[in-house]
Amino acid sequence: MSPSSPHGPAVSPDTLVVSAGRPVREHDAPVNPPIVLSSTYFGTGSPVAGERGYGRYSNPTWDPFEEALGELEGAALPALVYGSGLAAVMAALSLVPAGGVVVMPRHSYQGSLLLAAEEAANGRFSVRTVDIADTREVIAQLDGAAMLWIESPTNPMLEVADIPVLAAAARDAGALVVADNTFATPLVTRPLLLGADVVVHSVTKYLAGHSDVVLGAAATSDPGLRDQLLRYRSLHGAVAGPFEVWLALRGLRTLALRIERSQATAMELARRLREAPQVEKVRYPGLPEDPGYARAQAQMNGFGSVLCIEVAGGAAAAEKVTESVRLWLPATSLGGVESLIERRRRQPGEPHTVPEGLLRLSTGIENPGDLWNDLQQALTR
Ligand code: PLP
Repeated sequence: MSPSSPHGPAVSPDTLVVSAGRPVREHDAPVNPPIVLSSTYFGTGSPVAGERGYGRYSNPTWDPFEEALGELEGAALPALVYGSGLAAVMAALSLVPAGGVVVMPRHSYQGSLLLAAEEAANGRFSVRTVDIADTREVIAQLDGAAMLWIESPTNPMLEVADIPVLAAAARDAGALVVADNTFATPLVTRPLLLGADVVVHSVTKYLAGHSDVVLGAAATSDPGLRDQLLRYRSLHGAVAGPFEVWLALRGLRTLALRIERSQATAMELARRLREAPQVEKVRYPGLPEDPGYARAQAQMNGFGSVLCIEVAGGAAAAEKVTESVRLWLPATSLGGVESLIERRRRQPGEPHTVPEGLLRLSTGIENPGDLWNDLQQALTR
C-alpha cells in the first residue's frame, strides 16, 4: 500500500508498527518523517484535484501515520486522522442518512452515546441501544437499521461482540458496520477483516500511547466511504495538528511492545484480584469465567489491557481505593504507558447500568509486581 514500504502483506502487525509510514529511501534522507508546519501550499490548491491546497484538507505529517494505521487495520486505503476520537466518531455517524436508525451498544463509550443521543434529539436519526454481547438481540434490532455501531470490548463494561456474525447480519440487513477499535487496537482485533466497513479510534489512547495528545482516526477499504469521511473532516474542520500526529506515529512505533506488556499485566492482575477478599467481581475477557472469554479467544489476539473490578462497599469504597493508590494514577482515560484507575460513575454521562462501585483499570507498562502491591495496599485500607 505504502510506496515506501519495503514489505508485502505477509509482514506481521508487530513489524508494521515499526516499518510502516517511513519516508522514501533516498541517500541521506531522514528515516523519520518531518513535522510540516504550514497552513497553506504553493499552487492553486484544489482538494478536488487531489492537491494539498490548504491545511484543512491535508498535511504531509498526516500521511505516514494514515498509511501506517491503514496498513495495520488491513484497510486497502490510508486511514484518516481527526482532531479527536470523538471527531472520528462523529464523522462515522455522519454516514447515517437523515431519518436512519443506528443500533448501538448500550455500554458504548459515554461520549459516543451522548453524541448519538444529541443527533437523535435534533431529529437527524434515531438510536436503538442493545446489549452488544447478546447476538440475538442485536440481530433482532437490525431490521430497517442504517448502521450497526460496534465497540468491543465495550468501555467500561468489557462486553465482547461477535464481530463476524454481527457484521454479516448487518450486511444482510443493509446496514453499514462501524467498529470502535480503541480498546483492542489493530494488534488485538482487526474489525475490517472480520466484516466491518469502517473502524474508528481514539488515537489518544493506545495508538499514541503516552497520554500527551488528543487525536482520532477512521479507516475503511471503501473509496466512497473514505471520500465521505474525508469530506466531513475538511468541511467540519475536524483536523489534527501536525505535531500531535507526529507524536502519535512516534508512539505507534512501540505499540506492540506496550500492548504485550500491558496485556500480560492485565491478565496477571485479573487473576490476583479474583482472589482478593475486597473485590466482589472482576471483569476481564481473559478470565475463563468471563462471559466474553470464548468469543475473545476466537477473535482477539490477547484480551486487552483494561480490566474492571467491583469492590465490596460500592461507590464510597471504590473512591477510597482511588484516593489510596500511590503508583496508579487516579485519572480518566486509558491506553498510556502509566497505569490509570477511575470510578467510572464519577462521570455524569456514564450509563446508570454501570455499577456505582466499578473501577476501570488501564494497565500501563510498569513492573506488574509494583502495580499489584500498590493495589493491594489501597484495597486493604
Ligand atoms: N471511543 C472510545 C472507546 C473511547 O474510550 C474514547 C475516549 O475515551 C473515545 C472514543 C473518544 O476519544 P477522544 O477522547 O480522543 O475524543
